[in-house]
Amino acid sequence: MTAEQEAAAERRFAKALIFTPHPDDAELSGGATMAKWASEGTEVVLCVVTNGAMGSNDPSVGREELIATRQAEQRAAAKLLGVSEVVFLGYEDGYVEDSHELRRDMIREIRRHRPDVVVGPDPSMFYFGQQYVNHPDHRRVGEAFLAAVNPGATTVPLYRAELYDRGFEPHQVKAVLLSLSTNGDFTVDAEGFMDVKLAALRAHVSQLGEWEGLEEFVLGMAEMIAKASGTGLRQAESFKAFFFD
Ligand SMILES: [Zn+2]
Repeated sequence: MTAEQEAAAERRFAKALIFTPHPDDAELSGGATMAKWASEGTEVVLCVVTNGAMGSNDPSVGREELIATRQAEQRAAAKLLGVSEVVFLGYEDGYVEDSHELRRDMIREIRRHRPDVVVGPDPSMFYFGQQYVNHPDHRRVGEAFLAAVNPGATTVPLYRAELYDRGFEPHQVKAVLLSLSTNGDFTVDAEGFMDVKLAALRAHVSQLGEWEGLEEFVLGMAEMIAKASGTGLRQAESFKAFFFD
């Protein structure tokens, strides 16, 4: 591990705000990190951008019922991880755009919660290896999220009537971590937090309840990320990091 990586890995945050496109994305990419932070005393807030309404191909599953189910599952997963608050923005699953409305809502949450670290998806990821074409919602949430961080959160005139004039003061975050990324340069030791990560993923019963290979997939990914990081860790999660302090 380089001195820079070591310093980064030892960073402690007072408050984290995590943007997740769909219920379950945050757990998959950073569930162990959220649990670890919470265990260290970091206040962790989870902001879910979409309503999860596309999370079933069964035509007999009602839309409102599915939205309610996924919110309940998300709350249960968050509770297991030690997340202190879950915010649902309610955007339509599958139709997310990098819109001014979404940017404004994200800026509002950043200014309301005033985190020192914010986490959101890497918007540059169109695909992963030969197995996965990234969901467009992930990229668009990533684009809106980065715009919300800079220049959004710090710039008074942006969406002023809806934000600054309503008491949402500018806020400078200290760190940004991009999740769902193969550009990771910030490695978090996940050992000791994989059980709770798996339990949180299993809490998304409607999505992952029947996936028998979940444990194998998640543990394999953690080992692969650890190995690729060159840190000597055995299980890890990684993010692309930016530091502004
Ligand atoms: Zn997703």
